[in-house]
Amino acid sequence: MNQDRVAALVRELLTEIGEDPQREGLLKTPQRVAAAFDFLTSGYRTDLARLINGAIFTQQTNSMVIVKNIEVYSLCEHHMLPFFGRCHIGYLPTGKVFGVSKLARLVDMYARRLQLQERLTEQISKEIMDSIGASGVGVMIEARHLCMMMRGVEKQNSMMVTSSVLGTFRESSATREEFLALIGTRHE
Ligand SMILES: [Zn+2]
Repeated sequence: MNQDRVAALVRELLTEIGEDPQREGLLKTPQRVAAAFDFLTSGYRTDLARLINGAIFTQQTNSMVIVKNIEVYSLCEHHMLPFFGRCHIGYLPTGKVFGVSKLARLVDMYARRLQLQERLTEQISKEIMDSIGASGVGVMIEARHLCMMMRGVEKQNSMMVTSSVLGTFRESSATREEFLALIGTRHE
């Protein structure tokens, strides 16, 4: 990402919204915004193969693995405003498991892009399914969208819930129920 170019665009944006980019408080804002966007969209430039490489471990277990409450911060692709919340992941391994911290980094990699919550949820579940050959995966994200809270309908307390279930999580309602019970939230 060319930060100088983005900073120039932000300077123009400041002018267009009625601000004076030369006023003292705003002098460094374009560079700060550019740096922030570089970070917030770094998922486009993350090497997935490298991230996943050191993340997978051999472990003979058939028990469901659950990782709850992974913090998610992303930007909605319609308004480029934040949505944020928590991601819960469950999967049934077939000999390979994901390191927990790497699972959180996988979530970050997909979240640090312009996203739809539905797509983010699916991308995470598919990647876990494919990279460790799990027999089933369930991902649920609960998030609040600033584009809904700050503008438009101004529904401050609405929470959007999305889920993606693959493999045995899709086929077996008992597995799905176990997942929902273990993450401690039931959404029909
Ligand atoms: Zn939005």
